[in-house]
Amino acid sequence: VTETPHSPGPAHEPAGAEKRRSQRIALRVPVVVIGTDVNGKAFGELTGTVIVNAHGALVELKAVLADNQRVLLRNRLTGQRESCRVVWFRRDESGMNRAGLEFLIPAPHFWGVEFPPETWKLEQMSAVVQREAGGPLEFAKVTRPRPLPEELLVRVEACGVCHSDLHVARGDWPEVAGAMSYPAILGHEVVGRVVEAGAAVKGYRGGERVGVGWLYSTCGRCELCREGAENICLKRQVTGIAAPGGFAEFIRVRAATAVPVPDSLPAEQAAPLFCAGLTVFHALRNAGLLSQAKIEGSAAGQRVAVIGLGGLGLLAVQLARLAGAEVCAVDVSDLKLALARSLGAAQTVDARSPDALQQIRGSSRPHLAVVTAPAKSAYDLAFRALRRRGTLAVVGLPKEDLTFFADDLAVSECRIIGSAVGTRAEMREVLELAAAGKLRCETQVCRPEEINNVIARMERGEIAGRAVLRFGPATP
Ligand code: NAD
Ligand code: ZN
Ligand code: ZN
Repeated sequence: VTETPHSPGPAHEPAGAEKRRSQRIALRVPVVVIGTDVNGKAFGELTGTVIVNAHGALVELKAVLADNQRVLLRNRLTGQRESCRVVWFRRDESGMNRAGLEFLIPAPHFWGVEFPPETWKLEQMSAVVQREAGGPLEFAKVTRPRPLPEELLVRVEACGVCHSDLHVARGDWPEVAGAMSYPAILGHEVVGRVVEAGAAVKGYRGGERVGVGWLYSTCGRCELCREGAENICLKRQVTGIAAPGGFAEFIRVRAATAVPVPDSLPAEQAAPLFCAGLTVFHALRNAGLLSQAKIEGSAAGQRVAVIGLGGLGLLAVQLARLAGAEVCAVDVSDLKLALARSLGAAQTVDARSPDALQQIRGSSRPHLAVVTAPAKSAYDLAFRALRRRGTLAVVGLPKEDLTFFADDLAVSECRIIGSAVGTRAEMREVLELAAAGKLRCETQVCRPEEINNVIARMERGEIAGRAVLRFGPATP
């Protein structure tokens, strides 16, 4: 039995952490690593001694790996395959490199040796896992992560379920589907407390409340990062896609990406702000509505149509109202229309009604239409409702292409603007507004075990507000 050199002992591990170190065994196992390394070379067979436990292995190899890279291991004796991630990698002068690999789901039987359960079960956590593309989500035990040097380990308090999680789980977006690796943990509206800081992280003692959204990391160097548009960084990596997301008891987040969350905000209130809140804030600012100098009253005299009153839309209604705009709220559900009215929408329109277009146009057509519905028909309605020189903000992401007549666009001089989540600086502004009581999420707190039901209800448009998964002990 050998001890593996793991990332340096963290100062803030939770109580009992030392007991988590599971039994480690040095073996000679014929293991094949499947895939290609960072230089595009095939890995081939690992011949040296492999030090293993139920959660992963320390291996020697010639190939060059990258932190966080996912690799597939195959045991040549048993033929069994398991998906791993590279937790750390060190280059060696002699051309032999060492890497720490971690199973995403504990695989105590992978090596063909016995690990007594008490030596490895402590290193597990509960999570909502999707084992394969398009497959169901499952509440399962997975390997509890350890932070990379620049990361924090966060104990998740709450994670919102965004419609984008549904798109990703269903494989609606080809580009994302190509970037996924399985098993996957989705969830990108995460709030929790820091329990461990990676060796290179400064300024965290443990216990801090932080949140993370769609962006797992940005490069800070590309032209867009330098222009202040880190939300569309050329090298951005996405939570739940490039790295496991927040539908879990614990998540690793980049310390640089984490945004502090005020203690006064309940977790289920704060979590949806990390995608839904941030996204509509950025979209409205992109459309010229929420001025940087002063948000309140910055859109007095403007008419804004918000089409789609789900997690995003209900927050957009409040922000547009805060800016002083007159809001026309549009959805296909009476319940959501009523919610929008209670949040200050001056007018509500049922998109199913035959004269919905006339109703949205009203006596003066909207200056801005923000589409937060995942439906092409919502865009058709929005585009035709706008006044001349109006703005259409593209936020909701239906599978279909959006279309319009060129002449209609030319004659109206409308602008169509895209909008992708937001920046960390904007996230701080959103949290400030919420902490000041100016922005409130309508939430439905659910247990992670209910995830498939939540997703199905979201698909049918039955969730009023945001479903938020609550991890940890059940709240009374
Ligand atoms: P949600 O399921 O909470 O809400 C969608 C709402 O749209 C529901 O209230 C539903 O009743 C309504 N709706 C459906 N069809 C409609 C129609 N034809 N007309 C009017 N309303 C209709 O979803 P959400 O989490 O708020 O996300 C909405 C969309 O925004 C999704 O496509 C999501 O992927 C996307 N999104 C985009 C970004 C971005 O950065 N651009 C960020 C987050 C989410
Ligand atoms: Zn960048
Ligand atoms: Zn989202």
